[in-house]
Amino acid sequence: MNESTASVLEIDGQHLLESVIRLTEKRDQGALEQCLIDTLLELVSVDEIHLYAAETTIDGLSLKPLVQTSATLLIAFDPSEDAMRSLEQDPEVVRAVDLQTYVTCDPDATGRHRVIYPIRSSQETIGILVVFTHNTSPAHHELTSAFIRIYRNHMQLLHDNKHDILTGLLNRKEFDAEIMELMAACYGDSRRGSDMDFKACLAIMDIDHFKLVNDNHGHLYGDEVLLLFAQLAEQTFRSDDLCFRFGGEEFIVVLKRIDIKLAMHVLERFRAMVEDFAFPQAGRITVSIGVVEILSQELPTSIIEQADQALYYAKRNGRNQVWSYEKLVEIGAVTGVEHSSSVELF
Ligand code: GH3
Ligand code: MG
Ligand code: MG
Repeated sequence: MNESTASVLEIDGQHLLESVIRLTEKRDQGALEQCLIDTLLELVSVDEIHLYAAETTIDGLSLKPLVQTSATLLIAFDPSEDAMRSLEQDPEVVRAVDLQTYVTCDPDATGRHRVIYPIRSSQETIGILVVFTHNTSPAHHELTSAFIRIYRNHMQLLHDNKHDILTGLLNRKEFDAEIMELMAACYGDSRRGSDMDFKACLAIMDIDHFKLVNDNHGHLYGDEVLLLFAQLAEQTFRSDDLCFRFGGEEFIVVLKRIDIKLAMHVLERFRAMVEDFAFPQAGRITVSIGVVEILSQELPTSIIEQADQALYYAKRNGRNQVWSYEKLVEIGAVTGVEHSSSVELF
């Protein structure tokens, strides 16, 4: 930030520092977004701010609304699909993204400008911030751009903290943090009857004989199998399902809005897809899967233990199979979970 920016805007250094501290204290993505908007509303003279997540797809720019707020009131932010599409194709937005710099649009009848700031990671545009303001002084742009960069850096730290470096999936730490919330989300609440919207299933997936991949082809090819396996999982499951790397070659997927019957079907399709996939060097790889429907009255450790029992059964039964805990109970292969404090997985 230019030295004179703060003084031109008559913001004292302490105030500025406190704003940065407040922003970087946030540990939650939503709170971070809201804090960026609040900070800009407080420090820069703007009427309205809109924040969008951006993704560049083969069809062009794809935007998702995050926060919209004005200096005087909080506006419900639910733009129609048509409004989003026209924003994605707006020439000024496309220009800001292409030029990788902010673009100030011509003022409206009241002298109010729309300014579009692209938010970039090291390689791509990950968001855009749209500001409506009567003031387009360089000092305003500099301060806004500086806070966007602090927000982006902190957002990337939060992201890295939750994801596995090799596969890019959510990591074990995030699973531990999320599982209580998932359980509380009233999935499997028996009072909701058979409503699929309130059901979810948890599956543990363990690559078969993975040690042999490392032994026969080396760790680098082993790593590549893990990465490709993770990509297959992300392509197969729905975007709001949650895929975690739970440990070395163990993965957990939480399938949302689905009962155990349908989950078995989806997981069986995934198992077959892995079996048919030609992994470089390693060739044919198979996976064993254990799944259970999440019931909100169960403890997280019980849910994991039940899925683990189904996985263990699949392994003992010849591997390359999907088993549900419910099926094991039905055929009398298990009598129920013995509660233990530590869960041992494959
Ligand atoms: P099973 O069918 O019973 O699951 O046999 P397995 O060989 O898959 O299971 P085992 O637990 O014996 O071996 C797992 C192997 O996974 C051992 C470990 O070296 C390897 N592994 C764990 N993390 C990584 C990793 O990040 N990269 C690579 N390349 N290998 C890993
Ligand atoms: Mg294994
Ligand atoms: Mg294992």
